Amino acid sequence: MSQRIFSGIQPSGVLHLGNYLGAIKNWVALQEKYDSIFCVVDLHAITAPQNPEELRRKTLEVAKIYLAAGINPEKSTIFVQSHVPEHTELAWILNTITKIPELERMTQFKDKSSENKQNINAGLFNYPVLMAADILLYDTNLVPIGEDQLQHVEIARILARRFNNTFGKTFVIPEPFVVKESMRIMGLDDPTKKMSKSASSEYNYISLTDNPDAIREKIKRAVTDSGRHIKYSDEQPAIKNLINIYALLDNAKPKEIEEAYRKKGYAEFKTDLAEVIVDFLGDFQLRYNDIDDKEVVNILNQGAEKARPLAEKKIEEVKEKVGLI
Ligand code: ATP
Ligand code: MG
Repeated sequence: MSQRIFSGIQPSGVLHLGNYLGAIKNWVALQEKYDSIFCVVDLHAITAPQNPEELRRKTLEVAKIYLAAGINPEKSTIFVQSHVPEHTELAWILNTITKIPELERMTQFKDKSSENKQNINAGLFNYPVLMAADILLYDTNLVPIGEDQLQHVEIARILARRFNNTFGKTFVIPEPFVVKESMRIMGLDDPTKKMSKSASSEYNYISLTDNPDAIREKIKRAVTDSGRHIKYSDEQPAIKNLINIYALLDNAKPKEIEEAYRKKGYAEFKTDLAEVIVDFLGDFQLRYNDIDDKEVVNILNQGAEKARPLAEKKIEEVKEKVGLI
């Protein structure tokens, strides 16, 4: 049997180049070799306040982004997390073997609760347990994600081992999958923080729906380092990040981009980079705008039909092991 991959994105905020390069781009390649399941994780999104109308719209938008990026529903299963209730059921059971200090250590929880002190809800705290359930429910071998989610995959591994040790072999131990150059696309306005949907300034990210003028403006305004050369080095994190974006979209190596701009200045590099992004997103948006909502709803319904039997089988095994009758 082929190995399985599972991953998901929250329908919260606008999807950006970091989500595409760090996650979706890898999914598109991996779906050729793996039995692939891609989820729109709406139950994770509600750990931050969402407008219900907007959440509905964003859920379909994220699925459309998967399709426009090249996820093929004939090869991969695409579905909405809340359509398969076993995710929350397994999350509850896993909660009972999760230690509070393990969750208190999570960087995402610390970051998100300090950003939003008024709404430190229990869902945000338990987020990694639900994510562990998402992954473990499907006997996932590989989880393609950005670096920020490595800690959560580690928790999934710990819970899988703990459950197996206590109740007998039930879960596959998942492995994370990251690509070095794309695992952490940094904010354009601050190269010390990851590009993020929930960033307060739109100059932090390039959204997948940005128009050419917005892209050119954002790249022009992107922070650069104090040096004057286009060098791919940790000492110049801002330029390093821009070179990574260029290389990933151009299917080149960062060193090749560095070499091509060795004798050139920041301005020329940025102008060219903006055009590489404009071209890529132009094509992407054409495909996106061509997909109609009804087609997406159908694909998501079919996806849930495919995911449900797998989830039901696993949760039955779990309940049996735990002693629920
Ligand atoms: P939020 O700020 O609301 O958490 P997000 O941008 O982190 O949004 P998620 O839905 O949490 O998006 O994550 C979706 C996927 O995108 C995950 O695999 C995550 O690791 C990846 N990802 C998010 N931001 C980046 C980034 N800057 N670079 C690389 N990968 C990223
Ligand atoms: Mg995130």
